[in-house]
Amino acid sequence: MQITYCDIKQVKRLAKQLESTYTTLKLGQRLDKAAAQLLGVRDYHEASRLYDKWLMLHVHLSDHADGVSKCSYCDFSFAADLKDDRQLHRKQHDQFHEACVSLDYLPGNFVQRERMKSDGREQATNGQTTEDRLDGLLLLLRGWFDRSLFAAIYGNYWRKHPTFDTYVAMIQDTLGNSYRDLMPTLRERYGYRTGEIEPASSNWYPKPR
Ligand SMILES: [Zn+2]
Repeated sequence: MQITYCDIKQVKRLAKQLESTYTTLKLGQRLDKAAAQLLGVRDYHEASRLYDKWLMLHVHLSDHADGVSKCSYCDFSFAADLKDDRQLHRKQHDQFHEACVSLDYLPGNFVQRERMKSDGREQATNGQTTEDRLDGLLLLLRGWFDRSLFAAIYGNYWRKHPTFDTYVAMIQDTLGNSYRDLMPTLRERYGYRTGEIEPASSNWYPKPR
């Protein structure tokens, strides 16, 4: 059984609500009750043990005791033997998870994005048909979009980040003269919005007020 940050948050919320019904119970007892009720676990301790396990589920531990471990879910690199580093990872992992659940979308991690970019470029250049090449270009743009969304999640402005379709309309100035023959079709299908993304950047940022 997997227990995520969102589960733990719900347990804490319910434990707070239970205060009015069980006035004599201490917070720890209410947490136990809430965890059992919501997640079917024995107590809060078990829930938090499973949550700790979830935090480390995608961490590829370094072979060396003092090396860098990397989480392939939230892309955070850290020294897993240091408590402060583990705390920082937890914060980033939770933040990332909460945003992805809310967006109902999981952006590709670093390795996946690099693959999308290189496969996309190759297909956009050497594809057999125009449709094939266009698919390649969209794959490349998906890699860029996912990186932009990652930055938005950690910059805490992901709620304002454009959807993929809108991003494609906004990114065309950055593409410049590359894939020029594909541009009219791209523009026809996704539209064209200039001035939303800096021509030298592939990341979308909110406009300063
Ligand atoms: Zn992580």
